[in-house]
Amino acid sequence: MAGIYLHIPFCKTRCTYCDFYMGTNESHIDAFVEALCVEAVLRREETKEPIGTIYFGGGTPSRLQEHHFERIFDTLYRHYPIVPDAEITVEANPDDLTEDYVTMLAALPFNRLSIGIQSFDNGELQFLCRRHNAREANDAVKRCQQHGFNNISIDLIYGLPGQSLTVWQRNLEQALALDIQHISSYHLIYEERTRMYRLLKAGKITPVMEETSTEMFAMLIDRLTADGFVHYEISAFGKEGLFSQHNCSYWKDVPYIGLGPSAHSYNGESRSWNVRSLLRYNKGAEGGHFEREVEQLSAQERYNEFILTGLRTMWGINLQELEKRFGVELLDYCMNNVQPYLNRGLVRQEGSKLILTREGFFISDGIMSDLMRVD
Ligand code: SF4
Repeated sequence: MAGIYLHIPFCKTRCTYCDFYMGTNESHIDAFVEALCVEAVLRREETKEPIGTIYFGGGTPSRLQEHHFERIFDTLYRHYPIVPDAEITVEANPDDLTEDYVTMLAALPFNRLSIGIQSFDNGELQFLCRRHNAREANDAVKRCQQHGFNNISIDLIYGLPGQSLTVWQRNLEQALALDIQHISSYHLIYEERTRMYRLLKAGKITPVMEETSTEMFAMLIDRLTADGFVHYEISAFGKEGLFSQHNCSYWKDVPYIGLGPSAHSYNGESRSWNVRSLLRYNKGAEGGHFEREVEQLSAQERYNEFILTGLRTMWGINLQELEKRFGVELLDYCMNNVQPYLNRGLVRQEGSKLILTREGFFISDGIMSDLMRVD
């Protein structure tokens, strides 16, 4: 199986914390969709495997209109072997999910929605420069459910400056009240190219204390798992059988083709990145050649990815697979380095698997970097 990711680089406005590649000039959308379809056709030979997942991410894919989606689906179904029960996700912002828009989405092949809610607190939403309020977020989810979407994920952000545990708990309770199937939740990161970062550097905001961050993560895990969600990846919680197949494929070494400006691709041997410029991307379509940087992965780099992606998930690192793919020397390296964490109960061994314990999740970055090899 393989996956397709489509990067839709348009948003109505830019959120304070965001450093994704996107722009706000929507007059380029038509030309972009045509370029995207050209790239999809040009790269159709890159995989012969059946396509099990398609993911429209961004940016804000819900800035596209019906004819854009139809054009893209027509191209994909014509040129790729998409399996009949493929998971097909679109990211959407609550303010775009009007009655007409959801009716349109429900008539297209989408069977999963990922809604960028981030918070149910109106003060936080304003601070993040989101374009919706809490009531609109609730209404959007209910509208999607009424139109038959029964695989809905929402994003929540935590660790905002000044955020209290009480507000975070209220956000979680409101999310759980929605009867959704999946929640992705991330701690705020101060990315250099963002307004949030500049506010931090100017001393206008104060990051939450580390202990508060840890308590928020603990509350996230405890509250969601108590409600029947499975914590299957550091930031991802899903109801049984309704994990994000597309994201799982990133963590399980499944190849994927990334289409659109700044999109990443992976084929098991190399990674590549499309040019991070809409104008240069659209120009690529005119000449039939898209700018893309390719990096061949060495055995060591592949081993490091194997550690990083395996340890993030509840399935952990498969030691038999590690030995088969990277040899006994790297297996020994991994086992020697993990021993202190096994002793401290931060990693557990189940048969041939190494899996982070609940406590291990709190210092996962340190454990991963100790198991990775840098010569
Ligand atoms: S909607 Fe998403 S992609 Fe667009 S600016 Fe906000 S966080 Fe970034």
